[in-house]
Amino acid sequence: MWVVYEAEKDNLVNVILMGPPGAGKGTQAELLAKRYALFHISTGDLLRKAILEKTKLGEAAKSYMDRGILVPDEVVIRLIRENLPQNGGFLLDGFPRNLKQAKALDEMLAKEGKEVTCVLNLNVAEVELLKRMKERARFDDHPETVLKRLEVYRHETEPAVLYYKEKGRLKWVDGAASVKEVNDRIQRELGAAQP
Ligand code: AMP
Repeated sequence: MWVVYEAEKDNLVNVILMGPPGAGKGTQAELLAKRYALFHISTGDLLRKAILEKTKLGEAAKSYMDRGILVPDEVVIRLIRENLPQNGGFLLDGFPRNLKQAKALDEMLAKEGKEVTCVLNLNVAEVELLKRMKERARFDDHPETVLKRLEVYRHETEPAVLYYKEKGRLKWVDGAASVKEVNDRIQRELGAAQP
């Protein structure tokens, strides 16, 4: 468990939380960021905020989000570049969403002598995901959008998951349990992760 204690002390870990839409990334990210004092960045939350505030970024993102497809890479990569903390560990949720974003992140971090320490992929069966998304009723959770987002996940995001698997950074976490149980499982995986 030493990595966890080091992380609490020196913010040494940079974590990515991945998984299909509805897997519980947002909920778990908030808990983990607090627990390990990591800087939490959710591209989905940043984009939704931009839409509500009617900024240029929001304008650029809305039509993609309404359709359940990915906002263009250059937009989200810039968003990450502008929001990554200078010091301390971070927790990314919702980014990267494809191989191009994953590689852009690696390049961005390498320039600063940093790297992704651990990638957690929340695994939840599709029927359960559909049920969960029906219950949370977010503006981009219309039935057609939800199905599109699942398809986008399979075609675009899964290759990024495999990229981290090949790099030996990936940890699978069974996300079909209570928030507390999934959180415990994630903490066990983080405890076992090597920096
Ligand atoms: P999320 O809240 O992470 O489920 O994201 C909601 C929506 O925001 C997605 O369906 C995409 O349209 C957009 N989005 C969030 N993160 C990204 C990203 N890294 N790349 C492209 N689009 C994104």
